[in-house]
This record gives sequence, C-alpha cells and structure tokens, in this order.
Amino acid sequence: MQEYAVVVGGGLAGAEAAWQLARRGISVILYEMRPKVMTGAHRTGNLAELVCSNSLGSQDLSTASGLLQEELAILGSLLLTVARNCSVPAGTALAVDREMFAITVTEYLQREPLIEIRREEVLQIPTDPFVIIASGPLTSPSLSRSLEEVAGMGQLFFYDAIAPLVEADSIREEVCFRGSRYQKGELPGGDYWNCPLSREEYFRFIEALRTAECFPLPEWEKEQLRFFEGCLPIEELARRDPLAPAFGPMRPAGLRDPRTGKKPFAVVQLRQDNVACSLLNMVGFQTNLKWSEQARVFRLIPGLETARFARFGQMHRNTFLCSPKLLEPTLEFRGRPGLFFAGQITGVEGYVGNAGTGLVAAINLARRIWGIPPRVFPRETMLGSLLWYVTHAGPETFQPMKANFGLLPPLETNLRDRELRHRALVERALQTMREFAAEMALEEQAVARLSKKGALIGS
Ligand SMILES: Cc1cc2nc3c(=O)[nH]c(=O)nc-3n(C[C@H](O)[C@H](O)[C@H](O)COP(=O)(O)OP(=O)(O)OC[C@H]3O[C@@H](n4cnc5c(N)ncnc54)[C@H](O)[C@@H]3O)c2cc1C
Repeated sequence: MQEYAVVVGGGLAGAEAAWQLARRGISVILYEMRPKVMTGAHRTGNLAELVCSNSLGSQDLSTASGLLQEELAILGSLLLTVARNCSVPAGTALAVDREMFAITVTEYLQREPLIEIRREEVLQIPTDPFVIIASGPLTSPSLSRSLEEVAGMGQLFFYDAIAPLVEADSIREEVCFRGSRYQKGELPGGDYWNCPLSREEYFRFIEALRTAECFPLPEWEKEQLRFFEGCLPIEELARRDPLAPAFGPMRPAGLRDPRTGKKPFAVVQLRQDNVACSLLNMVGFQTNLKWSEQARVFRLIPGLETARFARFGQMHRNTFLCSPKLLEPTLEFRGRPGLFFAGQITGVEGYVGNAGTGLVAAINLARRIWGIPPRVFPRETMLGSLLWYVTHAGPETFQPMKANFGLLPPLETNLRDRELRHRALVERALQTMREFAAEMALEEQAVARLSKKGALIGS
C-alpha cells in the first residue's frame, strides 16, 4: 500500500508541512478542527490563519527575520511565496492581507490531489506510522492530555513566561559585576552578570515598571492567567508591593559588588543563555509590558542603558513541549520514530519560524517514509540554529525562542563591527543553506528514480 502521512493542525506549520509532503509525492491526511471547533484566538475556518499581527517581520537581509525568510525561499516554502504575493505596503516588513493570505493557502491545499483535508478535532496522537503534530499554541484540551501522556508529566507547558534576552556585548561591563549568590556557581568569576541598584535607582525603576503600559490580554486569556500565580510578570509583582521584587528575583542576598565591597540594595541578574555566550537572560523578568515599554523601562537598570534586546519578554497561553528533552533537531520525537512535531508546539516562535519547522518536519518525515535517515539542518543557517536551540537549551528553564543572530555560531574571525558581523553571518547562512538544499534535492531525485523502479517503500 502507498505510504501516507497524517498532519494534525492546518495552521502555519501544518499547512506548510502538508504542501511539502505532497510536493514529494506523499499522500497526506490533514486534520483541522476549525471551523467546527474553534480556538480562543482564531476567527475563521481558513488554513494558515494569522491569529494576531499581519506582519511576518522585516524583509531586510541584515535582520534575523529577513535572513529566515530568504532561507525559506531557498527551500521552496509555499507560505513564504504566498505571503510575498499577498503583501501590503509596510516599509521593510513583509506584511500581508491576512484574509487573502489564508484563503490562498487554503485554496492551494484544497486543489492539491494528494492532500485530503478532514475538518475534525483529533482527540489523541494518531497511531498511524507517519505523523506530524502541528496543533499550535492553542492545542485542544483532549489532544493536550494525550500529548502529556506520551511526553510525560511536566513535559508539556501551557503558558510561556518569557524574560527578555539581552545581547551580551551590549551591556556595560564597567557597571555590572560577575558573581553567583553565596559564590555558588560553576564559573570562576560567578555564573551571572549582576546589575547593581542603589535604593534610589531601585525605586525609580519600580515606579517606571508599575506605570508602564502592558499588552492588553483578551478576556479568555485573562481568565486562564489568573491560575498562573507561580510565575508572575515582574510588573505585576511590583504593582502588588513595590518591595516584592527586592525580596524576589531582584534580591541581593549573598552578593557583594567587588568594587565597593558592599551588598547593593537590589540586583538584576543576567544568566548566559546560549553556548556561544552571546545572549543573556534577565532572570525572573517574565513580563507582559509592550515591547517599546520594555526597552524604555529596562534601560533604566544600571548597566543596561545601552542594552540591545534579542528577544523581548512575553506571557500568554502557549502549549509547547520540553523539546530539549523530547525532540531531535530533525523534529522527530525521541521515543517514537516516524512521529514528528512542528510549529509553535516545538518552542519555536514567530510565523516564519513556524512555517519553517513545518518544512523541516515534512522533509524529514518524507525521508523516513523513503527509508533514508532524517537530516539535521546546518547550525550556520538561522533555521538550523533555531532548531538546535529548541532541542538543546537547558530543559529546566526552557522557554520558546524566535530567530535572532545570537543563536548562530560565531564566525571564525571575530568582527567587532555589528553591521559587518551580521552581513558576514547572513552570507555564510545563505551559502550554507543553498548548498544544503542542493544536496537534499540530489538525494530526493535519487530516491524518485529508485522509487520508479519500485525499489523503495511507498512505491
Ligand atoms: C493570541 C496569540 C497571538 C499571537 N500573535 C502572534 C504574532 O503577532 N506574530 C507571530 O509571529 N506569532 C504570534 N503568535 C504565535 C503564533 O500562534 C504562531 O507564530 C503561529 O500561528 C504558530 O503556528 P502553528 O502552526 O504552530 O499554530 P497555529 O497557526 O495556531 O495552527 C495550529 C492549528 O491546529 C488546529 N488544532 C489545534 N488542536 C487541534 C486538534 N486537536 N485537532 C485538529 N486541529 C487542531 C488549530 O485550529 C490551528 O488551526 C500568537 C499566538 C497566540 C496564541
């Protein structure tokens, strides 16, 4: 019998995955529960509906999102092609007419003879041999329960509580000091950078934090966040009691500023976030402030006046796996060959990144069907780096991640000028992706020739 693939979820990742599988000659059953069963954020029954902003990020090749878009173009992404065809004027950003975008993707998939779209909620992980789960941040409750059973208790999260990430070379090292509370750490100087605050600086910062503007939360999400007391946004903590942060994430206990020999009134700790040491996580600073407000308020912290943020903080409903424990960088589930995950559920953030995971999962699932091993995308590419991060970050503190230059391995020659460095990283990424895509295309052509002769599974 002809092998087939099951894709659960017709969002950005699932739609891209279904299309890529069909392009490779594989029959697909695509399950999408809308419009019969809706999520709290989607409004239509269209596939690939954009739930919020209509922007897919900057197209400028000197940005991480521009690079990611170009990599997807090299790989032949359907969603990127449709987005470019449905774009509306938005400066350097790739913004789309959301309705036209979703309808066009839906039509492409409906017209594809190898794709059968079933409008049904999938209640548990299908037992078919080749499956991609792409049910997104708002995965339905019964499927979530099934995922938790397979992943293990505590390995599926329901909210993200993301603290901002700062580019390490943008902090003022002459103001911050290294150290761990009570010298408990692995690195000789201490595992953290600490930004010290005097009493006056602390209260000035807290006042700005308490009065800063937050993202408005939809009613359904407010309800659910009320149960999420264990991980409060830093601004909520400060609003409840101005001193609460000083006794919580900003407590200076066990720390002395080596330059004064004194304990600061409060500290903000920055923890290394990636192996390349280029990103620092603001410990305990999960936040729902608007991004412009985060930049304004957090730059009041001594040492962060010139900080560049690789990722801003955020908090919202988001179902995602503890991917560092559960997934290979090929997006295959460690406990079951043939089962792949794609989209936001893997911990990748952003529309384009999520479409990219659909592409990767489809390529690798096709390879499983053909009986050849899945491929790990090169780390020099933005897509490869993103997948490497979500499958290799620390599992205890794992939170979703979007494309940024800090994820890429450093260049052989260190370029201090940021613009030159980014340009060199982009050139290396695109060259690597072109070579990798060409290599995979050759392999796929060889598979197609063999399958015509009936020598492969699926023929
Ligand atoms: C409120 C909100 C706002 C967001 N705003 C942005 C933004 O502005 N920019 C951005 O880049 N990202 C945003 N995101 C993240 C965004 O969701 C992702 O970037 C992207 O949509 C994820 O793609 P996906 O394919 O993983 O999930 P989705 O696009 O959500 O697709 C998952 C699909 O699976 C379906 N599904 C779920 N459970 C089942 C089931 N059991 N059976 C069958 N079908 C099922 C859903 O109906 C949905 O169509 C937002 C997320 C949320 C929740």
